[in-house]
Amino acid sequence: MARFKHLRDDKPPSECTIDQIIEDKKMDTPNTDKLKEYASKRHFEETPEPKGEEKKGGELIYVIQEHNARRLHYDLRLESGGALKSWAVPKGIPQKSGERRLAVQTEDHPYEYASFEGTIAKGQYGAGTVKIWDKGHFEPKLWEKDKIEVTLNGQTLKGRYILVRLKTAKEDNAWLLLKGKD
Ligand code: MN
Repeated sequence: MARFKHLRDDKPPSECTIDQIIEDKKMDTPNTDKLKEYASKRHFEETPEPKGEEKKGGELIYVIQEHNARRLHYDLRLESGGALKSWAVPKGIPQKSGERRLAVQTEDHPYEYASFEGTIAKGQYGAGTVKIWDKGHFEPKLWEKDKIEVTLNGQTLKGRYILVRLKTAKEDNAWLLLKGKD
């Protein structure tokens, strides 16, 4: 968790950059905690999916996997703090600016999941086939609890994408994924 240490009276607020915020977030939670829910849903002897170690620095990656499960959907995963923040997008990724789609946040996935393709056996969590639909790097422009803006530089997708959490009465895992203006 982010912790208050002391007030920096030596720095004006304008010098607090987005990179700093992102850097702080990276230190938020160790991977083991992030991936608890992921691991709890799976039997690694039964599924070909990765267990998850942790990752080193470098450019931030993203992946979009076409997941032909009970219902076809697209899983958008953005690297954050050594794991992959994840959303299931049932109606496909918007590709024209102004288009928006519902994106349901799911549990963080391990970094290695970005290269996973394969078949998850019947009876297992997420049973069905997983194929990489797009992958690449991204640059975070804004990274807040309820709003994320990134510039994607992928094989298929390029440009600005925005995720905004929807405020609904009971659930807080519903977001909107929008293609921004470039
Ligand atoms: Mn999925």
